[in-house]
Amino acid sequence: MSHVDDLPIHVFVLIDAFGWEIAQRLGFLSDELPYRAPLKTVLGYSSGAIPTMLTGRSPAEHGHWNLFYYDPEGSPFRWLRRFRDVPNWFLNHRVTRKVLKELGRRVLGLGPLFDCAVSPRLLPYFNWVEKRNIFEPHGIRGAASIFDRLAVAGVPYRAYSYHDSDDVEILSRARQDIEAGTATLFFLYLSEVDAFLHHHVEDDGPLKEKFAVYETGLRTLLAAARQRDPGAGFTLFSDHGMAPVRRHHDLARDIEALGLRVPDDYLAVYDSTMARFWFFSPEARPPIVERLGSLSCGRVLADDERQALGICFADRRYGDLVFLLDPGWLVSSSDFNTRGWMPAGMHGYHPDDPHSDAIFLSNQEPPVPMRTIADAYVCMAHAAGLLEPTPRAPRS
Ligand SMILES: [Zn+2]
Repeated sequence: MSHVDDLPIHVFVLIDAFGWEIAQRLGFLSDELPYRAPLKTVLGYSSGAIPTMLTGRSPAEHGHWNLFYYDPEGSPFRWLRRFRDVPNWFLNHRVTRKVLKELGRRVLGLGPLFDCAVSPRLLPYFNWVEKRNIFEPHGIRGAASIFDRLAVAGVPYRAYSYHDSDDVEILSRARQDIEAGTATLFFLYLSEVDAFLHHHVEDDGPLKEKFAVYETGLRTLLAAARQRDPGAGFTLFSDHGMAPVRRHHDLARDIEALGLRVPDDYLAVYDSTMARFWFFSPEARPPIVERLGSLSCGRVLADDERQALGICFADRRYGDLVFLLDPGWLVSSSDFNTRGWMPAGMHGYHPDDPHSDAIFLSNQEPPVPMRTIADAYVCMAHAAGLLEPTPRAPRS
């Protein structure tokens, strides 16, 4: 049984890409939030990390990882196969891609994040994982999220994200709702710091200025929460950090030079810090593995490592093989990179890289030792009175 009426207010704020190293260097809200810990992220991007925070489960368990996954039968772009005779220059044209992006977002129900980040010719083989709003009940396909649990338990909560507002408006709406006493648990997802840090991860001046603005906004929010409930909890999380980019490598060019056929021999999806491969002919795997093995910018992840990282899926939808770049390297000139986009910072490296660490900053002692971003779920469930009263077994 939950005891909703006795629950104190708790405000949770998830700031995308706000890493531990920067938060500590800035002493971000250190006077108000003395309980602080670095959180190990999960390998991948926000599309895998945030569902892990909302469910407490690994990507292999909740089913969300990188946005594109292999699904030729279920692809919303199956119909594009009929256009196989259309020349490449037309299919890859900026305008064609823009049309496909808008089509995906507005007509095919792929949600506001959809981008045509693989070659349009390959779209018919892939599906898009984040179709729903993950900050609502039933948003995550393979596991119940905190929002499912809150809804079932009848805990009054409010969640805010880019789906309906920008960061400034989210902070202002949340403050109004706290003052109006509409809920006990508040969840704010602030997404704009990510884009800022991609450009300014090493620019001390702009960085301090930017975070001073967030600090002011969050102090106002905390004051509003305390006004209504002097014992209000206030906790900041992030999903991952940001590493400075030092070097670029054109991975797609290396693989294309092998002369294998796409899609008959293999398919590849290139992201900023990794490449995933699917093999369809026995001839494809050996030369690709050999080529990848000769590169000094990264390495192929072994099966046991994928298992340990929580990205070993029951089927091959996320790839037969994953090549991960070392911290500081960036995949250049691949399909997802708009020409001329040269970020100064990137994330999506191995979670052991200290730049990847996310944050836990709170005014209250956490219910469990905070070690990974999955522990965010336990914190939120605890604040909502959803955890069993018996103490949890020690975590290994
Ligand atoms: Zn990012």
